[in-house]
Amino acid sequence: MKCGKPLLRSDSECCKDCKRTGHNFLRGRALYIYSDEVRASITRFKYHGRREYAGYYGREMAERLGSFIKGCGADCLVPVPVSMEKLKKRGYNQAELISERISAYTGIPTEKDLILRIRDTPPMKELTRAERMKNLKGAFKINSHVVKCRNVMIVDDIYTTGSTIDAVAAALLRAGVKNVYFITLAAGAPV
Ligand SMILES: [Zn+2]
Repeated sequence: MKCGKPLLRSDSECCKDCKRTGHNFLRGRALYIYSDEVRASITRFKYHGRREYAGYYGREMAERLGSFIKGCGADCLVPVPVSMEKLKKRGYNQAELISERISAYTGIPTEKDLILRIRDTPPMKELTRAERMKNLKGAFKINSHVVKCRNVMIVDDIYTTGSTIDAVAAALLRAGVKNVYFITLAAGAPV
């Protein structure tokens, strides 16, 4: 009911992680479970220049998560930004490419300049949630003093502990956004 991760037990509404942690977003959903195949596909998309995958990913997310997006009343999509350094190295922001495709299908605009990543964060794969949150402190900054969106849908590639989404959501809420939701390509395994 919260982060959208599938549950192993049907008598619970939230995963252990969401029960333990107060998130800054209201709800989120992912297109895929983060399996080995999905991981390999996302790796090609992010690190091996296969930017054209965004077309397929975006269409699938619009189709399968479209009713969730509309149900949240999202009035804009906000892709999680990457730093200028990463953007130069990679040539594109994968979250932004997906978001723009979803916009094309749903008609909900992508606001790609609303939030900036002012600081890069080291790889966080092996870190605990507390360490991740510490790393992310001050990493995002709202780029405009007027945020017109009331309900924002954050778009990213992978949801693991939710610390990145929470950091972006916190910045949006501070800027006056009322409700924050998220969609991602993939989320961690059932918990
Ligand atoms: Zn959860």
